[in-house]
Amino acid sequence: MTKIIDGKAISQEIKDELKAQVAELKEQGVEITLAVIQVGNDPASSVYVRNKKNACAYIGIQSLAYELPEETTEQELIDLLEKLNKDDTVNGILVQLPLPGHINEDRVLDTIVPAKDVDGFHPQNVGALCIGKPGHVSCTPAGVIQLLKRSGIEIAGKECVVIGRSNIVGKPMSLLLLRENGTVTIAHSRTADLAQVTKRADILIVAVGRPKMITAEYVKDGAVVIDVGIHRNAEGKLCGDVDFDSVAPKCSAITPVPGGVGPMTIAMLMHNCVRTVMK
Ligand code: NAD
Repeated sequence: MTKIIDGKAISQEIKDELKAQVAELKEQGVEITLAVIQVGNDPASSVYVRNKKNACAYIGIQSLAYELPEETTEQELIDLLEKLNKDDTVNGILVQLPLPGHINEDRVLDTIVPAKDVDGFHPQNVGALCIGKPGHVSCTPAGVIQLLKRSGIEIAGKECVVIGRSNIVGKPMSLLLLRENGTVTIAHSRTADLAQVTKRADILIVAVGRPKMITAEYVKDGAVVIDVGIHRNAEGKLCGDVDFDSVAPKCSAITPVPGGVGPMTIAMLMHNCVRTVMK
């Protein structure tokens, strides 16, 4: 029987643990504040920002919303970040991506002081992950590790294949699996024979950004398949990078879309916010 990994339930479990932790911190007089900055009014970004604010409210984290107009200059945004960096009452800073084309994302993300970089995108945090030092870890891949651990799936010694090498998902995902003692292979758009590589995987993480690309012939019998992809079709229905109907019967466990990796990203963002005040 294939186990369907319930990301909604696991993310709720994490949020409830964090809520209890935040309540305890409040009793000790410690408040946590997250500054969320959105430039422009891209509708998808507005939904993500709203969900983040709701998660903060649920857990007991204060959120400060900065909704800046589309024409905000790079320097204006950087000035705001520098002000928030210095503000001791602000623990975490999040800039919703993508930014308008006239703003250099790298320059903006590099401005956030690493201790407040709750998205885990700053080069110092990425470097820390690479060499096994403490730091904020990118939320989606951190969420995948929690899904595996909380579903009782052992990573150590397993053949792990990650499809995708983006800075936000694929690369940190691979480093996290390595940190958990998996044997890690990264496949990408230039991999010569993708199915040959992915069929080795005991744990296959798919972050390829192509709807339903991964079909049954890419998957070994009994593999665990984690689908990071998220796409909306013309009728507004969500699907992942994995063709769930053909792949699920072959797996020992699989995440659905929606309700798999998606809800974990915000839970791990909240985790990173709480981490900012932990000694
Ligand atoms: P990306 O486009 O930056 O990276 C895709 C990667 O897939 C690239 O590294 C590329 O080398 C690889 N790739 C592309 N075509 C390929 C092919 N034919 N064969 C093998 N590899 C190929 O995407 P991303 O930001 O890493 O996101 C991946 C997916 O995850 C997207 O669907 C995105 O929407 C989704 N996503 C979900 C969450 C979440 O919270 N659930 C968060 C971030 C991203």
